[in-house]
Amino acid sequence: MIKKAVFVVFDGLCDRPLKEFGGKTPLEHAKTPNLDAIAKRSQCGLMHPLGFGKKPGSDVSHLNILGYPYDQYYTGRGPIEVAGLGIKLQDGDVAFRGNFGSVDGNWNILDRRCGRIKDVTEFAAAIDGLEIDDIKLIVKPGTAYRAGVVLRGKGLSAAISDCDPHEEGKPVMTVKPTDNTKQAAFTAAVLNKFLRKTNEILNAMATNKQRVKDGLVPANFLLVRGAGVVPTMQPFHEKFGMRAACIAGGGLYKGIGSFLGMDVLSVPGATGMPDTDVAAKCNAVVKSLESYDFVFCHIKASDSLGEDGNHVGKKEFIEKADKAMAILAKLPDDVLLVITADHTTPCELKTHSADPVTILFCNPSCRIDDVQEIGERAFAKGGLGRIDGKDVMTQIMNLMGKLHLVGA
Ligand code: ZN
Repeated sequence: MIKKAVFVVFDGLCDRPLKEFGGKTPLEHAKTPNLDAIAKRSQCGLMHPLGFGKKPGSDVSHLNILGYPYDQYYTGRGPIEVAGLGIKLQDGDVAFRGNFGSVDGNWNILDRRCGRIKDVTEFAAAIDGLEIDDIKLIVKPGTAYRAGVVLRGKGLSAAISDCDPHEEGKPVMTVKPTDNTKQAAFTAAVLNKFLRKTNEILNAMATNKQRVKDGLVPANFLLVRGAGVVPTMQPFHEKFGMRAACIAGGGLYKGIGSFLGMDVLSVPGATGMPDTDVAAKCNAVVKSLESYDFVFCHIKASDSLGEDGNHVGKKEFIEKADKAMAILAKLPDDVLLVITADHTTPCELKTHSADPVTILFCNPSCRIDDVQEIGERAFAKGGLGRIDGKDVMTQIMNLMGKLHLVGA
């Protein structure tokens, strides 16, 4: 009887055949004895993360395969990134991705990333908590020049434009409503007031005056983009009745875990880069099963290397990750191991594609099939056939005996 589940997502794992690899994909060409052994003990198949013919973004795909239909719960990347910075979001908040940038006296952009400043904690603290027209501005520092930004209060809307022109030398754009509602007009107006006020406060800071004296650009503007209203969410542990943990290196994926109400565990050496310590993450997965019923583990670099078109690097990273999979191959019989990807990232395209991804369900209780190795073509013959991303959690719940009876 399956009591717990480990859900491993290799970002952008799958690919297309490459002539450099004799017509094999990086996953097929890589030496993966551990993943092959796991596949032999699994029910295997292919999965369309958002459904056939849809090219998934990572954020949208993760929501969908973790059981939160993207058309219902995805309202932009802002709320997810902000959740990853530890801001407890409330229903009705409008969240943005932010950068501390530099502008001149006419609000022309001098530097969108403020000279790639390393830390913006002091600047974020100086403007965090400001209130205008009964709306509160929440600003938390992210990595380097980045920040999470939230507007909190009544009558807000995410139907507003960005202020970030995404180009240096151009002026900051006035935020405008993008629909005809009162809420959108109000939100745009209040955000413009905040941008003016924060610019004044930041310009007056001694640290910024010193930066200018030192020939550096000041951190004097909060550039915001990607407004999203925080949807009403049922936390993962309530929706699926499982205490859940998230183990990830990349900020967006910690954000996904936090957004869904999972406990985000920090693992030293988990960098979200090719140098990440996959074994440390797998050991953390095993340890966390003592306290959690569901552990989501995200591995990023397979996607980044695909987006670089680095097929050799992608293959080598898969081989490195495979060594660590020896740890997950020894999970006890009451733990279901699911290994999949959030989308395909073909090296030839250097971006995501709508091709389906491999998925396996490993446990003695699964209807194990004849697949002998991991790979896109091997899994096309798997016993699971093809499923949609929205059905992944359904299958996990089915295998755990947690589905409700349809009918009597
Ligand atoms: Zn992805």
